[in-house]
Amino acid sequence: MYIILLGAPGAGKGTQVAYLAQNLNLVHIASGDLFRQALEQDTELGRQTRSYMEKGALVPDEVTTKMVLEHLAALDGESGVVLDGFPRNLPQAEALDKALDGSSRAIDGVVFIKVSPEVLLRRLSGRWICRNCQVPYHEVDSPPRVKGRCDRCGGELYQRPDDIAETVKKRLKVYSAETAPLIDYYIRTGRLVEVDGEGSVEDAGKRVIAALERVR
Ligand code: AMP
Repeated sequence: MYIILLGAPGAGKGTQVAYLAQNLNLVHIASGDLFRQALEQDTELGRQTRSYMEKGALVPDEVTTKMVLEHLAALDGESGVVLDGFPRNLPQAEALDKALDGSSRAIDGVVFIKVSPEVLLRRLSGRWICRNCQVPYHEVDSPPRVKGRCDRCGGELYQRPDDIAETVKKRLKVYSAETAPLIDYYIRTGRLVEVDGEGSVEDAGKRVIAALERVR
């Protein structure tokens, strides 16, 4: 099973993956997490991508696509995969389809998590992420049990530098211009299921799982 989670920054993709992982046996590949790891470890990839991430711009397609396709290729053929944050524009979606074309794999479904702009802004401004396992929390909607610590692994929680207001605005603009057109791309190819991403994590999670059942 190959699934893409599509949605604006703050739509709850990372939160829903954490929820899905408990319910379905899927390998999670999040392009943003991979870039943040590279930054943290100060690798060549991290140095190459830092300035784009700080500005809230997209990392060039050839760098991103290569990184994600290498991760996919390294998996055993048995695992189901959920892609989160990739593809982020049309060239990436086409490159992914091309890479899977001719293999035994294909995208089973694309779950588009729809959230209003007001809710996106509110979620991003209160977001805290685990430095260790990347699980997201929200200081009001889904706080950790112990302040500053991840419920799952005890890791330190931090606020992403690109969650500051100016960069969030830029990321939402990039989303509308570059990523939102993917909704039509996947509708045209009959793979999109839309889910209401508002309300509680559990309720949105149940809707995502119901949507996955439909595309399976
Ligand atoms: P995210 O964690 O998905 O919000 O991604 C954080 C940042 O990583 C983005 O603002 C981009 O700079 C970069 N990034 C993540 N995924 C992609 C992608 N598919 N294409 C280009 N840049 C990406």
